[in-house]
Amino acid sequence: MKKIIFLLAITLTFIACKDESQDNGKLNIVTTTTMITDLVQNIGGDMVNVQGLMGSGVDPHLYKASEGDVNKLVNADIIFYNGLHLEGKLVEVFEKMGSNTKTPIALADALDKKTLIGSEYFASNFDPHVWFDINYFKQFAEKAATILSEKNPENAEKFEANKSVYLAKLEALQNKVKQTIETLPKEKRVLVTAHDAFNYFGKAYGFEVVGLQGISTATEAGVQDVQKLATFIIEKQIKAIFVESSVPKRTIEALQASVKSKGHDVKIGGTLYSDALGSAGTVEGTYIGMFEYNVNTIVNALK
Ligand code: ZN
Repeated sequence: MKKIIFLLAITLTFIACKDESQDNGKLNIVTTTTMITDLVQNIGGDMVNVQGLMGSGVDPHLYKASEGDVNKLVNADIIFYNGLHLEGKLVEVFEKMGSNTKTPIALADALDKKTLIGSEYFASNFDPHVWFDINYFKQFAEKAATILSEKNPENAEKFEANKSVYLAKLEALQNKVKQTIETLPKEKRVLVTAHDAFNYFGKAYGFEVVGLQGISTATEAGVQDVQKLATFIIEKQIKAIFVESSVPKRTIEALQASVKSKGHDVKIGGTLYSDALGSAGTVEGTYIGMFEYNVNTIVNALK
């Protein structure tokens, strides 16, 4: 029944309205996650209107399009999304929209699949949390700039210039992050979080990454998982575990309680931004600010 109502909503939206409010001669761009919204704003600058569907703290694995979202998608000149089945429920909407709209652009299509981390949890068969490798995010930037220039050739030079500035900032971020992580001894590089969002981060910086909830938040952690991980934390003498901003913290608290019940202590090292940035207008509301914040939080807590 739900599905029928939803399809009806989409159909009605196609017939009903064209959103004129954004028509100021600029490209109307719709993005999904806050990371992609930030990226496209950096490259598009004031030559584009960017509307991000997901806000801060929103979990993209579980996100469902509202009727208002569908309206935005239908009227968009370009839709940018992560892909690799990160936006599990939105992909269905994209498919239903079919030829009624511009083809959505999955930025992850820019990446060499052979280099990605495999995952049985996603229909894509890949772990979709690729933005935690800055090199991949740079490739997102390249792809977004190319698409913008194709759609709006008059501004191509400006998009290219913005891209160069942004790539230089990402390069500086990489250097800074590397320096910070080098202060943490290799044997202390174990990252325990609520769900497996940090595998690419771990691969890039030599962390062993353990997620309590499996790789998607759509799968719940069982009692056995908690027990097993508690034993692992004690054996490895891990000082801190981490909450994530877009995942309820009860699973991590259950893990902390389990460690305590075995006569040990593990602290909660802070809240990491995993699948969404911090609030708009704050430092952590940008990809670069988020990345630095996460690294500082992790390194300070595990030292
Ligand atoms: Zn995730």
